[in-house]
Amino acid sequence: MKVSIVKEIEIGERRVAVVPEIVGRMVKQGMEVWVEAGAGEQSFFSDAAYEAAGAKIVTDTEQLWHADLVLKVNPPQEREDGRHEADLLKEGATLIGFLNPLGSPALIQQLAERKITAFGLELIPRTSRAQSMDALSSQAGVAGYKAVLLAAAALPKFFPMLTTAAGTIAPAKVLVIGAGVAGLQAIATARRLGAVVEAFDIRPAVKEEVQSLGAKFVEVKLEEETVAAGGYAKEVSEAVKQRTQAAIAEHVKMSDVVITTAQVPGRQAPRLVTADMIANMKPGSVIVDLAADQGGNCEGSEAGKTVVKGGVTLIGEANLPSTVPFHASQMYAKNILTLVQFLVKDGVLTLNFDDDIVSSACVTHGGEVKNQRVKDLLGETVGAKG
Ligand code: NAD
Repeated sequence: MKVSIVKEIEIGERRVAVVPEIVGRMVKQGMEVWVEAGAGEQSFFSDAAYEAAGAKIVTDTEQLWHADLVLKVNPPQEREDGRHEADLLKEGATLIGFLNPLGSPALIQQLAERKITAFGLELIPRTSRAQSMDALSSQAGVAGYKAVLLAAAALPKFFPMLTTAAGTIAPAKVLVIGAGVAGLQAIATARRLGAVVEAFDIRPAVKEEVQSLGAKFVEVKLEEETVAAGGYAKEVSEAVKQRTQAAIAEHVKMSDVVITTAQVPGRQAPRLVTADMIANMKPGSVIVDLAADQGGNCEGSEAGKTVVKGGVTLIGEANLPSTVPFHASQMYAKNILTLVQFLVKDGVLTLNFDDDIVSSACVTHGGEVKNQRVKDLLGETVGAKG
């Protein structure tokens, strides 16, 4: 089986899908691995390291995209030369990466038409069996960590309590909203830096995890089911939204740093921090909105930008995992390897659609869109046009 690792062309992307160590494991399993020249440069993995691991460095675009299996981080997109990456794949090839299937159903349709077998890593089930393939989690952890570092760098205060000859410094107060994978890593990182941390999540089940990391859980009486299938949060009613906003307002006001990570899969991120709450914060406070590119948890945050409102810094930087490219790529590569080992038996892609990993994550196969939610979205588009 010929496997290609192509260079990411997404603006600002510094990660690579597979690192040399994982290439070595693929080569040992009998795969022929081609790596686009410079693919790992931005994440500090040299062509020489890939070659030493047994890969062939390739500069010919046609050859690269004609592999049996193409491994990527971001969805295929149009290149500078006007050709679309999805059109460069050979018919019947397999593609694995983040494909944003619910955000770009038209791309998924395009892949189906090209008879590509495509796996969207964001659709890997959140089960213990699939945990080591779960790139959404590995990358969310990186984002949670980096969010706290950005906040600490922007805050005009220390994070830890300090007792010095020049006086005693009180620790920073950090509020984390959304205690999923990113939020829990943000809590742990803020605690390691010595902050006093509180956290809120709409799923009451996370209370113990929050407490085990040394943070206080902000309790809100919700009186409504807030957990959907797969352990994800549900989109909640207007009444619950108002109750949570009222409850967290006081905590936002008292915090030096607020990190928001709340998302609902396939939907716009819930609006949790309002302009009024921001106006009540102390000048110099910092908010990092990890959901900025999904519409934002925080009123006024802008995706990809840092803005200042009434003395409060709102950081909406997108794609934080890409800012820790070495380890983000290393973790992503391990997720990819586990999935590839699961799918490829004796050098042949072997798909069992009765298995929930295959049925969830395979978005296109045999000329068809396989994922029901993408099919529904495509149906809606056709319906709207007709
Ligand atoms: P996510 O990125 O979709 O959301 C982040 C957090 O925001 C979640 O904890 C969610 O409950 C919270 N949230 C959503 N709406 C909110 C609101 N209105 N107010 C406050 N908080 C809100 O979620 P995620 O971090 O990818 O994971 C969610 C959950 O999935 C995990 O905590 C876990 O239960 C499960 N999970 C399981 C596995 C596994 O078993 N292998 C792996 C990863 C995640």
